[in-house]
Amino acid sequence: MPTHHTDIISAQTLGKTFSVKSQAVTVLKNINFAVRTGEFLVIFGPSGCGKSTLLHTILGLEQPTSGKVVFQGQSLYDNLTEDDRAELRKHQIGMVYQQPNWIKSLTAKENVMFALRLTGLTEPAAAAKAHTALEQVGMVDWSDYIPTELSSGQQQRVALARAIVTDPTILIADEPTGNLDYESGRQLMKLLKDLNSQGKTIIMVTHDLEYLSFAKRALEMLDGEIIQELTNPAARKSKSNDLKRAGGKPPLTNQIVEDL
Ligand code: ADP
Ligand code: MG
Repeated sequence: MPTHHTDIISAQTLGKTFSVKSQAVTVLKNINFAVRTGEFLVIFGPSGCGKSTLLHTILGLEQPTSGKVVFQGQSLYDNLTEDDRAELRKHQIGMVYQQPNWIKSLTAKENVMFALRLTGLTEPAAAAKAHTALEQVGMVDWSDYIPTELSSGQQQRVALARAIVTDPTILIADEPTGNLDYESGRQLMKLLKDLNSQGKTIIMVTHDLEYLSFAKRALEMLDGEIIQELTNPAARKSKSNDLKRAGGKPPLTNQIVEDL
């Protein structure tokens, strides 16, 4: 697959096979894609199709069985040590998971600051950046709360602030809306879309088709493979609205995808 100088990450003929009780289980097969600066890419597919495993390999957390991952021109598993990869994650990648994983003795703001303190920033500088990040997600007023006192939707917004506070090259989100109700999920997606409009490159994985319309491009995964690329997933939004207005049932997954 040709690489391009504006690629942040590229996956090249990636494969991953786990051995479980002396049986080989293939979870990723011949995965090829690249993420360019400024993209908002959604990777979607049913539970168990390999989305999290794929993210782990491109994050440098899970060595692929075949193929390679190139992060800003560097092959992640050929020349870099595990420490190099950890260092790269700390400075270049912001992560949001389904579960925010708080340091429970710290406030929302202190949790956001924590990622920065690890990079050696002074307290006042970290506090200022945390304030700005919380402002971006509309959570400044909740800065001094313990995160677990907040609603799930509010917690994910603080988790997003924590992920962007280091100004990472790329934001990677693994089912960030997985625990949220419909409205909070859409709110979070709207924030991701705003961040992307301001220039942040984003990869998000989800099993929920509801959120496809927020992306600029989407890849569909099934059984460890990328089976389809959608270049204008936002087109789906008007279609499903039309269906709702007409009182029709929302189409099945395959139909939605084929209609695009
Ligand atoms: P998704 O995130 O799409 O739900 P995952 O990447 O978590 O899918 O898992 C894909 C498949 O790989 C699942 O069948 C899962 O059981 C399997 N799998 C994931 N990690 C491991 C592992 N460390 N060892 C063996 N099998 C694994
Ligand atoms: Mg997963």
